[in-house]
Amino acid sequence: MQVPFGRRTLVGLVHGHQPSQFTKLKNVQRVLDQEAVIDEALYTLCERAARYYHHPLGEVLGFVLPALLRQGQPALAGGEVRWRLTDRGHHVSDDRLTRAPRQLQALTVLKEHPDGLTPAMLEALSVSKSALQALRDKEWVERVELQPEAAGTPAEVLAEPALAANPEQRAAIHAIVDAQGFQPFLLDGVTGSGKTEVYLQAMAPVLAAGKQVLMLVPEIGLTPQTLRRFRQRFAVPVTVLHSGLTDRERLDAWVAARDGRARIIIGTRSAVFTPLAHPGLIIVDETHDASLKQQDGFRYHARDLATWRAQQLAVPVVHGSATPALETLHLARTGRYHWLRLTRRAGDAGAPPIELLDARDTTPDRPLLPTALKAIRDTLARGEQALVFLNRRGFAPVILCRDCGWQDECPRCDSLMTWHRSEQQLRCHHCGHQHRVPQRCGDCGSTNLTDAGAGTEKLEALLEKECEQVKGGAPVVRIDRDTTRRKGSLDAKLAQIQKGEPAVLVGTQMLAKGHHFPRLSLAVITNMDAGFLSADFRGPEQAAQLLLQVAGRSGRQDRPGRVLMQSRHTDHNLVQLAAAGDYQALANTLLEERRGAGWPPFGHLALLRCEAMTMAQALTFLDECAAGLPALDNVHVLGPVPAPMEKRAGRYRAQLLLQSNQRPALHGLLDALMEHARALPSGRRCRWHLDVDPIDL
Ligand code: ADP
Ligand code: ZN
Ligand code: ZN
Repeated sequence: MQVPFGRRTLVGLVHGHQPSQFTKLKNVQRVLDQEAVIDEALYTLCERAARYYHHPLGEVLGFVLPALLRQGQPALAGGEVRWRLTDRGHHVSDDRLTRAPRQLQALTVLKEHPDGLTPAMLEALSVSKSALQALRDKEWVERVELQPEAAGTPAEVLAEPALAANPEQRAAIHAIVDAQGFQPFLLDGVTGSGKTEVYLQAMAPVLAAGKQVLMLVPEIGLTPQTLRRFRQRFAVPVTVLHSGLTDRERLDAWVAARDGRARIIIGTRSAVFTPLAHPGLIIVDETHDASLKQQDGFRYHARDLATWRAQQLAVPVVHGSATPALETLHLARTGRYHWLRLTRRAGDAGAPPIELLDARDTTPDRPLLPTALKAIRDTLARGEQALVFLNRRGFAPVILCRDCGWQDECPRCDSLMTWHRSEQQLRCHHCGHQHRVPQRCGDCGSTNLTDAGAGTEKLEALLEKECEQVKGGAPVVRIDRDTTRRKGSLDAKLAQIQKGEPAVLVGTQMLAKGHHFPRLSLAVITNMDAGFLSADFRGPEQAAQLLLQVAGRSGRQDRPGRVLMQSRHTDHNLVQLAAAGDYQALANTLLEERRGAGWPPFGHLALLRCEAMTMAQALTFLDECAAGLPALDNVHVLGPVPAPMEKRAGRYRAQLLLQSNQRPALHGLLDALMEHARALPSGRRCRWHLDVDPIDL
C-alpha cells in the first residue's frame, strides 16, 4: 500500500497489524492490491531465508517483489504481446534474406513457433529488435496483443510423444512420479544420460493434473535449445524468468505464475521466489552450478532454497547433475535425499575415456602438444568438430621483462594484467582496469618484453594457422566473454556449430554447460592443473566438475568421442581420478579430506568479509567483531586474515571465518556477531557483509 512517510510517499507491505498506543497516526493513502502480493508460503520462505542468511527481511521482500510492484503498480498482468508470422511471412523463402542474417534468424525462430513469441521469449532466443521491425515493415511479421486466458489444462498435455525410457530412466521417473508430498531427489546421471528426458516425463503427470512445475537452471543453461525441448514436448505455456526481462515482462510472468496460468516456469536462481498457484514439482537442473548462489547483496543459495520451498509446498524436488556438489552427494549417500542414478549414456555412444597427456613440454608459444594437434587435424579430416578448452580468455595472462623479471600488474588489484592482443590493451579481469601495452619494462626500462602463458585468443590464432593446412580449411570459432559480448553473438556462434560442418571450437567454461553439439567428437582440455592443486578447499571439486562437463560435450549422440587432457601433473591422484571419469571415487577422496578438516558438508561455514581503504582498517574492524563474540567450544573463529586477493579495485580486503559442526550454534553466534558488528563505529569506515555457506573463501 501507499503510505505517507515524513514528507515522502512510499510503497509498503502490510505484514500484520496490532492495536497502537499512539493516537496521532497518519492514514494509509491508497491500498494497491486487494489480495496479498506475497502469499503465506512465499512469505514464510522469505522469513526463513532472512533468518538463515542474516539479511534484513525488508530487503529480502524487496528483492523478491518485481520492480513494478515495489513502485506501486498493481499485481495485474498486462495484455500479452506476441510477435508472429503473417500469412505472407509463412511463405517467404530463406534466400530472400541471405544478405540480412539477423532478419533470417528472426524469421527462422518465428517459423519454429507458429503461436508466436512474447518479447521475453524473443529476447531469450536473441532475436534482434531491429530485425523484427524490418520484418514488420515488410509485413511478414505482426505484433498482436492477447488478453491472458483463464487457466486450463488441455486434454493432452503432451505435444509430442515421449522417448522410450531406458530401465534406469524408468526407475527414476517412477520414483519421482510416485512421490507423495515433499521428497528430495538427487538425479545423479552422467552427461548425456538423459536427465532432461527424466524431467520431461516426470513433469507430464504433474501438468496433466493441472499443476505447475518450477525449474531452475544455471544462467548459462537457459539456451534456446533447452527452451525448445520443453516447448516442443508440452502443449502448456512455458514461462521464462531471467535477468534480461523488462520490468513489465517480469511482472507479467510473476502474475501468470501466481494465477496458475504459467504452467512450466523456467528461470535462473531468483525464480525460486516465484509465487505458484498450484505447485506440483520443483526441478533444479545442474544443481552443482555456482550461479545458483547469489554473490552480492542477499547472498542466498537457490539450490538450498529450492529444497526448503518444496518442503513448504509439500511437493517433490529433483536436483539433477552429472557432477553434484559434495554437499548434495553427501545428502544422497546418507539417505536424506533419494538417490537416483543414471550410469550410462542414453544414446549408443559410451562415455569417452579421458586420455591424460603429459604437458610438461608445452611452452607459452606452443601450448598444444603434437598429439593434440594431430587429433584435431584427424577430426577435421573426418568431417567432424573438435573443441579446445582453456579457461582463460585474452591472448596471454601476463607481459614480463626478460631482463629483470618484472610483470605488469594491475595498479588497483593484486593481479596480473591480461594481454588482449586484438584490442592492443592490457586488462585486469578483476576490476576492469585497462592500459596500453607497455613498450618498456616498468622497473628497468628494458624493451626486452615478452608474454607468457596462453589464453583463448592465442589458441584461436594458433589453431587458425593449423586449420589452413587442413584440406578445405575449417573455421575456428572462439566462445568466451570477449567474443560473445554483443547480443545474439553467442547464439549465432552456437548455430554455426549446430550446422555441423567441420570446425574447431575454442572456449572457456561458457562452452562447458548444457550445449549439445551433435558433430563434436574430440575435446582437448588444457590447463586445468591449477584447480586440482588449488589450496581452496573447493578447488579440486570445481575442477573435476568442469572437466567432466567439458568432456561430456564430446561424442554425445551415436559417435564415440575422444577426450584428451593435457596436464603437467599426470601422476597426481586427483587428476588421475578425474581423468578416469570416476566422479564418485573422486568424491570419496575429497569427502574424506573434508571430514578430516571439518569443511562442508561435515562442518558449516560463515564468512565475514570486509573491504577498506587500508588493510589495517579492515583488520581492525574484524578484530573488534571477533573480540565481541562469546567464546564457544563448538564454534571456531578463524582469523581475521587478509583475503586471498588482498587488494581489489583499490580496496584492501580481509575476512573472518566462522566454522562449526553444529548449525544452531553457528547461527546463534552469527546473530550476536551481526548485532555487535552493526554497532561498531569502525564498521562505518569500511564495507562489510556476512556470507553464510560461502562458496569461495
Ligand atoms: P543429460 O541432460 O543427462 O545430459 P539429455 O537429456 O540431454 O542428457 O540426453 C542426451 C541425449 O540422449 C539427447 O539427445 C536425448 O534426446 C537422448 N535421449 C535421452 N533419453 C533417451 C532415450 N530414452 N532414448 C533415446 N534417446 C534418448
Ligand atoms: Zn625489467
Ligand atoms: Zn584490477
